[in-house]
Amino acid sequence: MAERARTREAVAGWSAALTEAAAQVAECRRCGLWQDATQAVFGEGPADAPLMLIGEVPGDQEDQAGHPFVGPAGQVLDHALAAAGLDRARAYVTNAVKHFKFTRQGKRRLHQRPDSGEITACRVWLDIERAEIRPRVTVLLGATAAGAVLRRAVTISRTRGRPIPLGDTTALVTVHPSYLLRLPDAAAKRREYAAFVADLRRAAALLGA
Ligand code: SF4
Repeated sequence: MAERARTREAVAGWSAALTEAAAQVAECRRCGLWQDATQAVFGEGPADAPLMLIGEVPGDQEDQAGHPFVGPAGQVLDHALAAAGLDRARAYVTNAVKHFKFTRQGKRRLHQRPDSGEITACRVWLDIERAEIRPRVTVLLGATAAGAVLRRAVTISRTRGRPIPLGDTTALVTVHPSYLLRLPDAAAKRREYAAFVADLRRAAALLGA
């Protein structure tokens, strides 16, 4: 709840363009994903955030709550950020695509990866967020976010953890935290979680944190 209150306060400091985009995204019809989703999930965080974290697409819980990274992957992200010495309250957190994409299996809604047309259609919102926040460091969580920002196909294993100068910001590619949730065994989870934290520590080092 404290997190929600912080977010509302942070909105008060946003530029007019960012505030306008957050309102307009609710009516976006640039691709078909709005039709089945509950609502658009825009980014959240302070206007002067030095760090931006970009994921793929809202999940089931994010779609219902209207906030990014509040489900299981968000909990992994929160723990990893804390382990890396980064404060989520000082970061702007968003997704490359703003409406939940899923298929139904009984009562469950199973996440689906957005396609290139949906990522391209939705980039208009991400571009506004990036231009208005202008973070010093941008962490790209997974191949969808990396592709949306770097505008090319990205192989995570070849790109992760290496600072990529990108105009006013330095981008860092790492895995999406949902990848850690999908790993089958505990040893792999521990190993990959440590690698994820190490990537976030690189972001902290770039920020001088
Ligand atoms: S996913 Fe993005 S482009 Fe598609 S309707 Fe939603 S906000 Fe618009």
